[in-house]
Amino acid sequence: MSSHYLGIDVGNTKLAFGMAKADGMSFCEKRVVPTEPHLGVEQALQKILDNTKDLLATVPDVQGIGIAFGGFVDASRTIGLASPNFPGLKNVALVDMIQELAPGVPVRMDNDANVAGIGEAVYGKARGYHMAIYLTVSTGIGGAVLVDGKPLAGSQGLAGEFGHMIVKPGGPRCTCGSQGCLESIASGTSIARIARERGMQTSTRIHSPFSGVEEINARIVFEAADRGDRLAKDVVEEVAYYLGIGLANVISAFDPDIVILGGGVMNSAELLLPPAIRVVEKHLGARGAQVPPIEASSIHDDVALWGAMALARFAVGEE
Ligand SMILES: [Zn+2]
Repeated sequence: MSSHYLGIDVGNTKLAFGMAKADGMSFCEKRVVPTEPHLGVEQALQKILDNTKDLLATVPDVQGIGIAFGGFVDASRTIGLASPNFPGLKNVALVDMIQELAPGVPVRMDNDANVAGIGEAVYGKARGYHMAIYLTVSTGIGGAVLVDGKPLAGSQGLAGEFGHMIVKPGGPRCTCGSQGCLESIASGTSIARIARERGMQTSTRIHSPFSGVEEINARIVFEAADRGDRLAKDVVEEVAYYLGIGLANVISAFDPDIVILGGGVMNSAELLLPPAIRVVEKHLGARGAQVPPIEASSIHDDVALWGAMALARFAVGEE
């Protein structure tokens, strides 16, 4: 009989919980609840604890728990230090809080980009490769360098921060304080900002959990580009160019077997990836280097949750 693992994905928009068996490729139980950061940290933490407690009660044989944290995690991987889009979520000893609900069960946490990378390496397209790069293009841009399925940490645990590679010196101001980072051009937030700056307007209004009503988001830009809107097409073309530069740099640095891209923006991969890959081909082709497969994740909606599951499995293996 195979035992169960619990994965928790703490994101700025949603909190996801998944329970699966070690050999399972589908969740036997999955829940997604909105984070609602505007209601404060306490309520979000309460939701995490309540749902975890609930799930632990339904399945008695949970062997390990993995947490994907949408923000910076301390070097010991137990404290959520800060979450850029959830300012109140700071210095939260999440591992200890979850541990209290499941005494004796190993609990592991890492930042969501690393965890998603692990998910790709264990359950997704990066499976079986020696050197894989995972890049998440979402509200921000993060990533992981996976060597035999494990993320490279770096000296401060910050390896794979591809979002903050400079791709356009002197370019737009980034959330990190620098300028011209990949994230300042190609993240979902930046794509929307560039479109707004260029004067894109839309009658479509969608509800955003962060800011109430927001006129333009990346999805709307891609939809407009797909319909042939000139301005939106130009924005997508420019974003693809800089994404291509970023990918070319990463590939030059790591010579990976495969590059996987996930995150919400990759729902529009068919518009963004082909022109970005052409930039990579041009750059690497100039010196006769081979271009590795560059593909959108096939599990990107749940990749962090699957990664959390894998982290839980690794934890059991370590103990
Ligand atoms: Zn930056």
